[in-house]
Amino acid sequence: MLKLNTEMPDLICPLCRDKIYASNKFVCNTCNKNFLSNNGILDFRYSNASLNPNRNWKIGEFDKGYKDRGDVKDHFDLARINHIPRAVEEYRYSLVKNRLLDWINVEEGARILDLGCGSGWFIRDMQYKLKGKRNIKYFALDASTVNLNYLENKRLENTIGILGFAENLPFPSGYFDAIVCSDALEHLFNPKEALKEMERVLKPGGQLLISTPSKLPFLLWGAIICVPRFVKRLLLNNRSKGAYDAPLYSSKLKSLLSNSGLQINNFKNSVLLIPEFYYQFLPDKLVSLSIKFANLFEIKYDSLNFLRLYTLVEAHKL
Ligand SMILES: [Zn+2]
Repeated sequence: MLKLNTEMPDLICPLCRDKIYASNKFVCNTCNKNFLSNNGILDFRYSNASLNPNRNWKIGEFDKGYKDRGDVKDHFDLARINHIPRAVEEYRYSLVKNRLLDWINVEEGARILDLGCGSGWFIRDMQYKLKGKRNIKYFALDASTVNLNYLENKRLENTIGILGFAENLPFPSGYFDAIVCSDALEHLFNPKEALKEMERVLKPGGQLLISTPSKLPFLLWGAIICVPRFVKRLLLNNRSKGAYDAPLYSSKLKSLLSNSGLQINNFKNSVLLIPEFYYQFLPDKLVSLSIKFANLFEIKYDSLNFLRLYTLVEAHKL
């Protein structure tokens, strides 16, 4: 990890957007707000904003959910926590995360922001993919202290952990060569504002990579399988804590992007499975049969896009 006293990034106050002059403290000279640094992680969360308006969760409660689940070491670990069988996760990763890794295209010395980085395991995957490129700096942003404290376990190089809100980023305009927002947009209370911010902090020509669940297939499959949310919660005593969760319709995401000054180069609906969660109730044979079918239809039939679980985007700033 980069220690903040050795290499200080240019940051701005998320409240008034003035430059922050860092010495030992990180204080905004304009609004006098003092931003704390803890374990080399800067805290740019600026208020006791509610992180889940449905339940009025404040930062502490939001963090508690992540504490309960513990460190997420890699994508298989996350799948295990979410009761997703390994074979399903393998398939999902190949079509979602691997595609983002294929798309990412940066030069040596680039700055990359992982927006909603969680415990940082995808940064490790990016670093592996980009290991031939020197001096790439990674910025790991999340709203959860607990998540960012797990960054330490990943022993990531050239990575700075920053606590902040996607809707009000503490970075100057035109700062990043690439932003990855993978499986995070659906957890943001205001994705429209967040996309505007992503556009702002990207350099002209900078790349934005998004993966996020699409709302429609989850609604449809939920209705077809007749296991509505409350039954799922009843069955598993799984009252999800920690994150606001509101996937966007794929078409909605497209229109938000088009209105934000970003040029879409790739827009893909992918993963023709039933929502991954339900596979835990199926025998292994049915799981692998389902993956075989999905594989068969994955690259054919655009007419099935409405059933594909994920939306993937590669865009750049004009
Ligand atoms: Zn300020």
